[in-house]
Amino acid sequence: MTNLLFIADVIGSPGREVVRGALAELKRRHDIHLVICNCENSAAGFGVTRDVARDLFDAGCDVLTGGNHLWDKKDSIEYIGEEHRLVRPANLPPGTPGEGWRVVRASNGVSVGVINLIGRVFMKEADCPFRTVDTALAAIDKQAKVVFVDFHAETTAEKVAMGWHLDGRASAMVGTHTHVQTADDRVLPKGTAFLTDAGMTGGFDSVIGMDRQAALKRFLTSMPERLQPSDGDLRLNGVLVTVDEATGKATSIQRLQIPYEKGVTSTGTCRLLTGAEPAESVRIEAKLRAQVLLDAGHAPKLALVSVGEDPASKVYLKKKFEACTEAGIAVEKVTMPAGTTTDEVVRRVQQLGADPSIHGILVQLPLAAPADGQAALEAIPPFKDVDGFHPENAGRLALGLPGFVPATPYGVVRLLQYYEIPLKGKHAVVLGRSHIVGRPAATLLSSKGCDMTVTIGHSASGPELRALARQADVLVAAVGKRHMVTADWVKPGAVVVDVGIHRMEVPGGKSRLTGDVDFEAVKHIASAITPVPGGVGPMTVALVVLNTVIAAERQCAAVSV
Ligand code: NDP
Repeated sequence: MTNLLFIADVIGSPGREVVRGALAELKRRHDIHLVICNCENSAAGFGVTRDVARDLFDAGCDVLTGGNHLWDKKDSIEYIGEEHRLVRPANLPPGTPGEGWRVVRASNGVSVGVINLIGRVFMKEADCPFRTVDTALAAIDKQAKVVFVDFHAETTAEKVAMGWHLDGRASAMVGTHTHVQTADDRVLPKGTAFLTDAGMTGGFDSVIGMDRQAALKRFLTSMPERLQPSDGDLRLNGVLVTVDEATGKATSIQRLQIPYEKGVTSTGTCRLLTGAEPAESVRIEAKLRAQVLLDAGHAPKLALVSVGEDPASKVYLKKKFEACTEAGIAVEKVTMPAGTTTDEVVRRVQQLGADPSIHGILVQLPLAAPADGQAALEAIPPFKDVDGFHPENAGRLALGLPGFVPATPYGVVRLLQYYEIPLKGKHAVVLGRSHIVGRPAATLLSSKGCDMTVTIGHSASGPELRALARQADVLVAAVGKRHMVTADWVKPGAVVVDVGIHRMEVPGGKSRLTGDVDFEAVKHIASAITPVPGGVGPMTVALVVLNTVIAAERQCAAVSV
């Protein structure tokens, strides 16, 4: 496979700084064989010069592409004409300096054709890009199977049309020019990776890369105003395309939106903090402790209470049942039909509370109407409340007293500790303040032992929340909003814990689980991240098991542990 990296329109020296700072690591991490970079705005926002191009080549770019601004530095026209690593729009009139397509050698030895085109809708006059690309493809045909096209055009329709025109004939067609990345990346049916616009590389605290005050003044007064590239909120935009060099067909395309901080190399290898191993270690601990109880003649037992037929609850109940059974804990399933009243549920929970053979009670939320989940939770004797949701246990956690800690936040902490993530003195931002996840997670992380400085965000935190999240050394996402945490919420090198669980439809009428974090984008920024599924979820189940054993230990006080 040949891995191509395309860097979207580099805007002035801030954009070049991002390329210098981020490219080496990106190349290493994605095993990039060829870097193509649009340079038409790289010299102070307008055009390119010999020195600016050298800067980009020295940073690791292999081929530069252009657009309508390529000629803005008039004294560089000669350079553009002679630089064999630069490709200018192909559909310009005969006699224009430079070449509109070139075949270059990628680092894996594969020949790659690079074509640059310019659009005709709302752009300066140019020859037909569709017919020109046919000519370019015919010229490249015998030399390269892998072909990358940068179509520098204003309108979405023209770029989408070009994508279909090229499907099966080019490996990738990526649009440039608008400086705003679109989210329509896909591999077209005949194998052409497509994205309408790759965005830009430079300062995003701007109007498409240029200082926003000056740009605004232009719009407000219509007076000429000198535009300078912005250096606020630096980011790299681009795409990764993987191509099968035997066929020239793309197998994947992935958009990149990478925040860049001066002096911080953003992308060390991202560790995958999977839950399987730490959950296994918790389950082994629970099993060993359960065995001690069994050997002493005590049989730990959990009551799993549910009301109604919530499909997600059924899955969670099954997992908890299996994990408890495996650890040697007996489970009594107490399943009540939808329509059971709150009084009836409370009475049943109280009976279980009074039963000395039951050591833990877990009420699986949500309860089918009209039963009130909170009333059911409060009916559990606090010493059997293995979910830790009873007000007394919530208060004990807040006061640092022994009690039961809710399984999910407890699982988050155990997972971080298992992977030896430094916590003491670090800054955690917890997104979400529910009593089940966010608030207890924040309490735990700030408690003695974890010793973190904690910020809690919620739905009323406002637009500043993203900037707060970007200060986090450890970012815990528990908002219940699919992919709310995108790459620009994450500080380079941060550790990201994704608690969210969402079922997402995928083509073919299937579905898969995903989280509150846009994993594919964030993994390029974070130093470590939990996956969904397979991250926090297994920890939650394991901690329910451990909490049940702890409850049994406390109730069988004669047993020494
Ligand atoms: P809740 O809906 O109870 O709480 C969500 C929290 O996120 C609230 O505090 C809410 O704020 C906040 N929030 C919502 N929208 C925004 C927003 N746009 N910006 C900032 N904050 C926001 O959810 P849970 O805490 O129960 O669960 C969170 C996620 O974790 C869900 O996806 C759930 O499925 C998953 N989960 C996973 C578990 C596991 O084992 N992995 C276990 C339990 C839950 P406010 O308080 O202002 O409304």
